Amino acid sequence: MQKYSIFSLARNALSHHQHWSRAWRSPAPRPQYDVIIVGGGGHGLATAYYLAKEHNLSNIAVLEKNGLGSGNTGRNTTIVRSNYLWDESALLYEQSLKLWEGLSQELNYNQMFSRRGVLNLGHNLHDMRAIHRRVNANQLNGIDAEVVDAQWIKQFVPILNTDNARYPVLGASWQPRGGVARHDAVAWGLARAADALGVDIIQNCEVTGIRRKDGQVIGVETTQGYIKSKKVAVVVAGHASMLADMAGLRLPIASHPLQALVSEPLKPILHTVVMSNAVHGYISQSDKGELVIGAGIDAYTGYSQRGSFHVIEGNIAAIVELFPLFSRVRMLRQWAGTVDICPDACPIISKTPLKGLYFNCGWGTGGFKATLGSGWTFAHTVAKDEPHPLNAPFNLERFTTGQLIDEHGAAGVAH
Ligand SMILES: Cc1cc2nc3c(=O)[nH]c(=O)nc-3n(C[C@H](O)[C@H](O)[C@H](O)COP(=O)(O)OP(=O)(O)OC[C@H]3O[C@@H](n4cnc5c(N)ncnc54)[C@H](O)[C@@H]3O)c2cc1C
Repeated sequence: MQKYSIFSLARNALSHHQHWSRAWRSPAPRPQYDVIIVGGGGHGLATAYYLAKEHNLSNIAVLEKNGLGSGNTGRNTTIVRSNYLWDESALLYEQSLKLWEGLSQELNYNQMFSRRGVLNLGHNLHDMRAIHRRVNANQLNGIDAEVVDAQWIKQFVPILNTDNARYPVLGASWQPRGGVARHDAVAWGLARAADALGVDIIQNCEVTGIRRKDGQVIGVETTQGYIKSKKVAVVVAGHASMLADMAGLRLPIASHPLQALVSEPLKPILHTVVMSNAVHGYISQSDKGELVIGAGIDAYTGYSQRGSFHVIEGNIAAIVELFPLFSRVRMLRQWAGTVDICPDACPIISKTPLKGLYFNCGWGTGGFKATLGSGWTFAHTVAKDEPHPLNAPFNLERFTTGQLIDEHGAAGVAH
């Protein structure tokens, strides 16, 4: 793998940047792989990377129907944190946060991971009670979390309207190690590193069928032909139900549009991430200067990547209430992704009743932060054919046993 550094930049500048090698190859699919990963988003690429790096497998393909990161990975608002309520999720997200911390160096690819802290605002006594409970639980799990009051917030983010509002800000939970990362760089950095370890990344290759024989998966039909494999790991976010259907399974997943929008670039004005569940909006400022704003899900199910206007209208009203000085900022772009939501707002990282078929989905509105922990535990599950202790609770059986992990409160986005 070509090393990126100030020296390689200078060397390549001398030859007018004509000799950079491609970040990853574009091979034709082989007839057979040890593992096929369906979905070239961050989670699929992280799975491939950790399978190759930690489990010494190299005959792996990632099949992506469009371009890498063209799904939710390239459409999200990039908030990274680990302050979830229940032990099961807090430990999984915390493992992910730890992996984020060294990722740029490990991949030799700048993830622009910026630990600028995340504030989750409380606007009423019930919010504050829930925040105290969650912060206590976080601290017991060794996660950096504290409760801060309105005065602290006013000093830290003076442009935030804490008192003169329909729902005044009473306090917040504060996670200093949280922040944001560059979504495209996550997909591209992981793809480049996986490719260097021998993984075939095949774009514009849609999986259209899953072949099985005697309760075992044997391969996938694709738009580039049939490919054999006794292990197929599906990581397609909002399209998980469709892939499950190809294997004769039903998943407890509902796919909804989730919208986001960015403003025109501004000079640095907001140096942290602010989220509010009660009035409903979350906001940060990108390194380019754009305000990056996220909404709640559109209530209807569907695969549209646009979303309805009334949702962003309400979202912007909330942001303007919190930050009155943004009321005249112009918005540049709006879009949506298709998020995959489980009844308990927690993911599925699991084996399935079909031998050799694995599903990783249900990350809904909050899976970007989990990209690395998800790939790391899923790689273990696929390689060893058994879950890692961190993802064991996120099995498919929980929807029949009732051992749900209800994270609706800490999800940060209303479902
Ligand atoms: C607007 C928005 C804001 C968000 N904000 C945040 C946030 O701030 N923080 C956070 O943690 N999370 C956030 N999320 C959630 C996060 O983006 C996702 O949970 C995460 O990116 C999912 O990654 P993935 O790799 O599983 O899915 P994706 O990136 O969607 O990748 C799945 C891939 O599978 C491919 N695929 C689908 N069907 C097939 C097929 N048949 N054959 C081959 N390939 C197929 C798709 O093309 C896609 O590229 C947000 C999501 C959205 C939409």
